[in-house]
Amino acid sequence: MKKFFVVLMLALGCAAGAFAQTDEEQDISRNRSKYANDQFREDDQYTVAEPYATVTVTQPKSRRIKNVIVMIGDGMGVEQVGCGWVLNGGHLNMDNMPYSGYSRTYAVDRLITDSCAGGSALATGVKTRYYYMGVDPDGNPVPSLLHDAQQKGMKTGVAVTCRINDATPLDFVGHSLDRDEEEINAAQFVDSGVDFLSGGGIQFWQGREDGRDLVKEMVDRGYTFVDNLEDLNKVHEGRVLGLFAPLEMEPALDRGPVLEDCAMKAIELLDNRKGFFLMVEGSSIDDWCHRQKVGYMAEELFDFDRTVGKVLKWAEKDGHTLVIVTADHATGGLTLIDGSLPERTVKVHFSTKGHNGILVPVFAYGPHAEEFTGVFENAELARKIRALMK
Ligand SMILES: [Zn+2]
Repeated sequence: MKKFFVVLMLALGCAAGAFAQTDEEQDISRNRSKYANDQFREDDQYTVAEPYATVTVTQPKSRRIKNVIVMIGDGMGVEQVGCGWVLNGGHLNMDNMPYSGYSRTYAVDRLITDSCAGGSALATGVKTRYYYMGVDPDGNPVPSLLHDAQQKGMKTGVAVTCRINDATPLDFVGHSLDRDEEEINAAQFVDSGVDFLSGGGIQFWQGREDGRDLVKEMVDRGYTFVDNLEDLNKVHEGRVLGLFAPLEMEPALDRGPVLEDCAMKAIELLDNRKGFFLMVEGSSIDDWCHRQKVGYMAEELFDFDRTVGKVLKWAEKDGHTLVIVTADHATGGLTLIDGSLPERTVKVHFSTKGHNGILVPVFAYGPHAEEFTGVFENAELARKIRALMK
């Protein structure tokens, strides 16, 4: 009997080890959050102690669009926004944008898209296949809004919280049929000419199999390289490459205001007579819905929404900036099933560990923002922005 017990324990130990192996990244991310123990309750329930203040903005009088800022919440369907709204006590910055609509996210070959095809449609105005980035359904490279902006002599920037070679940023900057070719995809940024780049994923820039040091190559091309916020905030001119993590950044509560600071630094450096195009992504809303952790998801959404608030305030002062906030798809089949608005609590259910196919929101502010009401195909949004940038 005793012998059987020992054997069983060993078997269980192996099973646990195998589980830890397959879900290694999840375990590390969760355990390393210093907020995990005291702030996060059951995985499907979350309460916010201190809500943050949101901004209100008035529409500019000008009809001229000089700058375009596209902000993408990865995995941010209407339920994610709805849960965030409850948890922040009935306020979100994106809610305060004066015009809103919906976007349909399906890919050419699949009803439920991935980030590659979903982001590619938003970047290029061309719906494409699952796994394809910055290319049409036949695999031919297509230009993105960022490329259009470069053609027009505008400055350009990308600020994300994922590895910068991942789907959404690559959709705007490069072209690929395979997101898993991480080193090849990272190398596409070197000669991209994008003026401001920030995100994670430095492990694909240095210590590469081909021996290239992409950071050094960028510095040789005149970029200032930073890997922490203190150094970022000392930069006041020129091109910037900011890589803040080996792979993905830490959870929102641990990493601090990286996205806010990068977005605002990008705007400071990109603002010029000819205008700029900036893509900002709250990349990790998606990750925590895959892992079905509503508290972590909410903190990522807040991080993104606080960045939206700062961007809106700047855009209001500028008067010639179109700001579009949307998502590439929803994730997790999130459903708000209970909670309390006064107590800032949600109880939710996740019905899948993958993406789901519901409409995602579109919020718009600035000149011509009223044209972004209604139900759109994701690619149609990019085509509309492209026409307005002409
Ligand atoms: Zn995505």
